[in-house]
Amino acid sequence: MTNKIVFENVSKSYGNFKALDDINLEIPEGMFGLLGPNGAGKTTFMKILVTLLDPSKGKVLINGHDAANDKMDVRNIIGFLPQEFSIYPQLTAYEFLEYIAGLNGIKDKSKITKALEQVNLLDVKNKKVGGFSGGMKRRLGIAQAILKEPKILIVDEPTAGLDPEERIRFRTLLVELSQKRSVILSTHIVEDISSTCENIAFIVRGSMKYIGSTDVFINKAKGKVREFVVRDTRDLSAIKLKYRIISLRRFSDHTLVRVVGDYSSEDGGKEVEPNLEEAYVYFMHEDDPDV
Ligand code: ADP
Repeated sequence: MTNKIVFENVSKSYGNFKALDDINLEIPEGMFGLLGPNGAGKTTFMKILVTLLDPSKGKVLINGHDAANDKMDVRNIIGFLPQEFSIYPQLTAYEFLEYIAGLNGIKDKSKITKALEQVNLLDVKNKKVGGFSGGMKRRLGIAQAILKEPKILIVDEPTAGLDPEERIRFRTLLVELSQKRSVILSTHIVEDISSTCENIAFIVRGSMKYIGSTDVFINKAKGKVREFVVRDTRDLSAIKLKYRIISLRRFSDHTLVRVVGDYSSEDGGKEVEPNLEEAYVYFMHEDDPDV
């Protein structure tokens, strides 16, 4: 399963607005996460990758095929679950996949059963999709994306609108699927990535601020996360002025405040180990263009 996905000087503009600005990146094997706030350019990035949009400048190569010029070759390698995924509520899960198989020229019906099995929907294959929960619909979305057994699976904001249990289940499914293929997911939900992706790209306002290991990214925020024990609300106001608050926990006689920001020695508090969410918040607001 070696896949090679390369972005070379990729920019994308909508009119005068630059949604992606000179992106250079090689996506490593395994499960890869594209992390960034809403409006950062994640969907634009994913649509270029799956050949639904062409770059304004630069090129994307997937196993040697140019995403703008060799669209059919690229589409044969990838499966895609878009953010807006429409299903037909009156069809059963099986009928829906039969329909998608037809569109893709897949005649071997055993592939439908295999896909349903992989996403754990085989026992409800004859149930109407309209009655499915959000998590089941997303899993059906994955089933349609893996029907033709793609080498690369791409999912855009997969857990939006799912409850915590469904999200965990869905993430576990993606990790399982990544054992046999590359999985690329975009999300603004930090937990989706922290529990699954070894490597990430962090995108803010169309620019890649970081590309590499998730652990290294977290480590870069070392020394930027502190905990304060606050007994006087005036102290809390001073902390708020200087740092970004991550969490506040109130106890009977004090408040425990966790913050990110650049520390000066007179502030006090105690340095604590950063997590991915804190690294995200720190680098999101940092002026330095590259992490
Ligand atoms: P994300 O997926 O990270 O939320 P998008 O790729 O959807 O980001 O959008 C990036 C930026 O490009 C946003 O500011 C968005 O408003 C803008 N944008 C996206 N699609 C279009 C479009 N078709 N026309 C104009 N602007 C767009």
